[in-house]
Amino acid sequence: MKFSKRAMQVTPSATVKVSNTAKAMIRKGIDVINLGIGEPDFPTPKIIADAAIDAIQSGKTSFYTPASGLPQLKEAIAERIKQDYGVVYPADQISVTNGAKMALYVLMQVLVDDGADVLLPRPSWVSYRQQVSLAGGKLVVVETGADFKITTQALDQAVTKNAKVLVINSPQNPTGTVYSRDELAAIGQWAVLHNVTLIADDIYGKLVYNQNQFVSLVQISDEIAAATVLVNGVSKAYSMTGWRIGYLAGAPELIDKVNSILSHSTGNPSTASQYAAIAAFQSDQSDVETMRVAFEQRLNTIYPLVQQIPGFELAAKPQGAFYLFPNVQAAVELANLNNSGELVDRLLAEAHVAVVDGAAFGMPGYLRLSYATSLENLLTAVERITEFMNQFS
Ligand code: PLP
Repeated sequence: MKFSKRAMQVTPSATVKVSNTAKAMIRKGIDVINLGIGEPDFPTPKIIADAAIDAIQSGKTSFYTPASGLPQLKEAIAERIKQDYGVVYPADQISVTNGAKMALYVLMQVLVDDGADVLLPRPSWVSYRQQVSLAGGKLVVVETGADFKITTQALDQAVTKNAKVLVINSPQNPTGTVYSRDELAAIGQWAVLHNVTLIADDIYGKLVYNQNQFVSLVQISDEIAAATVLVNGVSKAYSMTGWRIGYLAGAPELIDKVNSILSHSTGNPSTASQYAAIAAFQSDQSDVETMRVAFEQRLNTIYPLVQQIPGFELAAKPQGAFYLFPNVQAAVELANLNNSGELVDRLLAEAHVAVVDGAAFGMPGYLRLSYATSLENLLTAVERITEFMNQFS
């Protein structure tokens, strides 16, 4: 069988791969702690699960919904955006997708022509670059500073004639960095000036800690909002990774194109999941707050402990999402290894802790540790990594 050039280019998601290896080891009875994947460990709140059960039991399963989602779900999303952001999107400017991942995938298909350039901060989430390449686009890296943020100076250095899209993910995976209003205003104005479409991946927007504030690009000004496509979903904030509901909101002509592609590709996301998502968006959000507080407590407990692991160096304390992104170059050298990928392999094989190589996010020499697992697991994982590193110091 001969495969397409597209298929030959794409590589599997490093986060999914490490997590699958960890899960396979766990199935074999090995006591692995999985800090590899961004999957909240809380059960989906009951009120949300019950809405899906009701939908199934009342027979709302044997029909297709519109490919871009149930009208009542779009209304619920529009209302949530209005309440959370103070920004109004009519329901027909929203498309519901199979997770935010599909929203981002379809957006790249709609916005990126063969040879078009997509500006991506380094580090950034693993799937963006693959989605750009699957759309025929070219990745243009925008370097970040010690705080893992891009600036207009970095954008000026990176920008090309063909630059069409810039992705901003705040809070950011893998670093937990949150952009301030002023920083977003500067980036937004730069994008408007350069006629570059912004994608605001706000998937971690509800997970911000220790009095830090989340601001979305779409809240900065009407002009910047008009240049931005908003992407979000239920996976992280409502602990609903398995339900596969995400969405995007943007200009009517963009939504038309997105909906056409969805109608020929995924069709509608699972109907029961859509009913669950309505309940999530319409709920009083107290479950979200309970989970946010738990993540905050984990961050505050493990951040100082990870800083003390020999050879691990953490920059500023993360402000959101649920990841730590330590520089481990010193640990790689202490352990006499060639790179951070080898450290990942040794930690999994010998310390039984799964983490992700920073190389997957464009930054070798770093590791991503997810704290979307219990405090008890986190403390044991840090103890194991410390013990592993202690043999070299
Ligand atoms: N965007 C970022 C930055 C992510 O980290 C993830 C998931 O890991 C997604 C989007 C996709 O989320 P989902 O498809 O589960 O909604």
